[in-house]
Amino acid sequence: MVEWYIYKDVLESIMEFSKSFYPREFSGMLYTKNNIIEDIYIIPQTYSNENSAVIRLDFVPLSMSINGSVHSHPSGNGYPSRADLSFFQSKDINIIVYHPYDLFSFKAYNSKGENIEIKVILREKSKLLKNL
Ligand SMILES: [Zn+2]
Repeated sequence: MVEWYIYKDVLESIMEFSKSFYPREFSGMLYTKNNIIEDIYIIPQTYSNENSAVIRLDFVPLSMSINGSVHSHPSGNGYPSRADLSFFQSKDINIIVYHPYDLFSFKAYNSKGENIEIKVILREKSKLLKNL
């Protein structure tokens, strides 16, 4: 069983984006490295907030990969739809965040749509984790 982690600041950014898009749905891709979700990339079609930072793909280190997804459910339901499940199949990790978008309002799923746990960690602490 693979353990997954997300930086707390990344989760906070996801929630901020989700709040700013509300009541519309927000979606993005996740950059991961060593099973840690390190950053998000906002999908351009849904990009509409002037305060949002869009990460340029050519600045992403080669050691990072975009193998995750995140999107919001303004309805407050954290369960994947049929369309979500088929989209999840090509990703290693998928996060659904749901209204009211606090730091506990999320669920994570693997490519098979199985609910998996993600541990929230601080960026500094993760360095220690990687050096173990
Ligand atoms: Zn969905």
